[in-house]
This record gives sequence, C-alpha cells and structure tokens, in this order.
Amino acid sequence: MPAYSHSQLSTYQTCPYQYRLHYIQKIKMDTEGIEAFMGSRVHDALEKLYRDLKMTKLNTLEELLAFYHQCWEKNWSESVQIIRKEYHAEDYRRLGEKCITDYYKRYYPFDQGRTLGLEETIYFPLEEEKGYWIRGVIDRLALSDHSILEIHDYKTSSRLPTQGDVQSDRQLAFYQMGVEGKWKDIQEIKLIWHYLAFDVEVQSLRTPEELQRLRQETMELIKKIESDRDFSPQESPLCSWCDYQSLCPKRRHRIVAESLPPNEYLQEEGVNLVNRYVELKEKKGILIGEIDAELARVEEALFAYAQREELEAIYGSDHVAKIKTEMKEKYPLKGDPNRKALDEFIKNAGKWMEVSDLNPWMLARILERGGWPPTLAKKVKEFSTVEKNRSIALSKLKERD
Ligand code: SF4
Repeated sequence: MPAYSHSQLSTYQTCPYQYRLHYIQKIKMDTEGIEAFMGSRVHDALEKLYRDLKMTKLNTLEELLAFYHQCWEKNWSESVQIIRKEYHAEDYRRLGEKCITDYYKRYYPFDQGRTLGLEETIYFPLEEEKGYWIRGVIDRLALSDHSILEIHDYKTSSRLPTQGDVQSDRQLAFYQMGVEGKWKDIQEIKLIWHYLAFDVEVQSLRTPEELQRLRQETMELIKKIESDRDFSPQESPLCSWCDYQSLCPKRRHRIVAESLPPNEYLQEEGVNLVNRYVELKEKKGILIGEIDAELARVEEALFAYAQREELEAIYGSDHVAKIKTEMKEKYPLKGDPNRKALDEFIKNAGKWMEVSDLNPWMLARILERGGWPPTLAKKVKEFSTVEKNRSIALSKLKERD
C-alpha cells in the first residue's frame, strides 16, 4: 500500500520533477548537503542523550560533544557538499556543536518529561477506503504531567519560522494523527519544535477540526500527485541544494558546463550557442534602436517637407510616399480611469456584445492556473487545440542561481 511522508509531499510541492526522480524512479544520488549532514549528526547526539537517560545514564556535555564529533568523523565523506562557498565544513561543525551545547544547558537535567520513544515510526491511514497512508519518524515522544503527550522535533535550519508557520505545519500534525489513541488517559497532545540554531522552543496545539482540514488538504494533494502525468521541473532558490541537478533538464547543462576546464568551457557547443545568441540579440537591439531613431527623424522631415510644399505625395526613385493627415477618435485603453465608465455605459446601452472580444491568451492563462471550476474548464477546453510552441527566453545569471 503506498504510504506518503511529509517530506515526500513537500518534495512534490517544491518540484514535481525531483519527486519523480526520487520517489518514482527511486534514483539514489551519492551527494548530501552539509546542512542535512550536520542536522543528522546533531540528531544522533540528542538521540544518544535520551537513549542513555532511559537507562539512567546522564551524559556530561563533554561526553555528548565527543560523541557528536565521533559521529561527524565516522560519517564524513567527500560526497558531503557545501553550497554556500563562504562557509567551510568546520563552520557547520561548530554550529552543530553550539546547537547541542545550548540545548544541553537549557534542558539540563532533562527531567521535563518521561521519554516514551525515540525515532518512533508512525504509520496510519489517512483514509482507509482510498488506501492513503502516512508514514513518518518522530524524533522524541515524551509524557509530561502524566497526561500530556509531547511530540518533539529538532530543527537545525537557519530560518526561524513564525508562530503562524508552525500553526500550519503539516509534519508534526501528521505525527499527532499517528499517535492519537495509542495511550490511555492522554488529555492533550503538544507539538514542540526545537529550533536549535536559535535556542528557541516553539509549541502548538491542534484542534480536531484543524486535523480534519489537514486530512482533506492532504488527500487533495495526493490525488493531484497520483494524477500528474508530467512531473514538470520547477525552479526555485532551493535548486542549488537539489541532489538531482545533474539529471534535471533545467540544471544539467550548467553542471556539465561548469565542470569543464576553462579552455574547453567556451568551446562547449551549448555555451557557444547561447553566447552567440546573446551577442546577436544585443546587436539587433542596438541596430533596431538606431534604425528606429533614424526612421523617426526622416518621418518628421517628410511631414515637414509635405507641409511646407503643400504636398500629399512625395516621389523618390522607386517609391512614392503618400502623406495623410487626419484626425482620429481615440477611446480609453484598459487602465485608463475613464475606461470603466465607458464599459458600463456600453453595457447599459445593450451594445456590449458588438464591441467585446474574447482574449484567448487570457483564457488559456486562467485555465492553466485552475482559476475556473473544473466542470466549466473541461467544457471550455473542448474548444482548444494543442500546438507545439517553441521559444527561447534569455535571463541573466545571478550569483548562486
Ligand atoms: S534542480 Fe530544481 S528544477 Fe531541477 S529537479 Fe532539482 S529542484 Fe527541480
């Protein structure tokens, strides 16, 4: 039975193409971002802290940090990648150390609750009939005051979410659904995030209505994933951290080109073609600008000549330029403050259909964005035909794009 996890659903929302490579084609890449590597090592250390505590052994901070560094050494490999070039592995290592130190000092002697589970796996049906299941792993599950179940999650991210962000967080809400009803006499389930890099604890409670709404939204999302046929790549600032860049149609060429030595780089066919294309476009822009300016000057001179000589036709060697001067009525365009009043006036006069026109480009955009009810969109789409459109869009490369 297919089971979805929070990170699986998030991957789809971030980039359907990455989702396809990872979860459908199950392609494993041997690279790992250093942020994820450091996060895993901090998790290792905090798991050890609470696992040993269950056996009544309280590690000192020095022991815990020694374990952290040992895990770092043992797991470190060349496949760990540092995207932010201004930082080094040691910077991340120190940040992990600080996360553990702050946590240790804040919660020592760790008697806030009784640990029920560590790295606890959950697996529950979102909706049994449809076969949608959710799976996940809870960092730490604890019991406090004999009746409060606490779901703890450790984050080492460099961004501190707002209370609004955590209130709508899906991951821990899933965990709540996964543990509900498992223990007797539980009066409340608390969701607790530890933003370790900020030494901040954030809490949230979920009502049954909120959980039901999340169930619905998740089912909608799963249906969307299961009916997707394209899994199109979706570029975002997160691409720099994507392990699949070398397989992605939007990023692959960049990876290939950047890996070439400088002398081969400029010879590479794609690099060459884009450079030439940009050169010609720029040249064209300059030439068009110059020609347009010259044309405007000659036009003005022709009008002036015709007026001075009282002519309506001026003869060149092979062409005649007929000069016409007339007064034309102009009506307000869209965006003009008078346009709304004019539209209203024509509608009220019952003449709207004689001057209105369908904008097929706008229609396609609205349908593409799912802006109309599905049944209406389906009917309208019956009038459409599919054409292959080719275009080249140039954009300037930014740093770490
Ligand atoms: S590099 Fe970006 S667009 Fe390509 S698969 Fe990864 S996230 Fe998607």
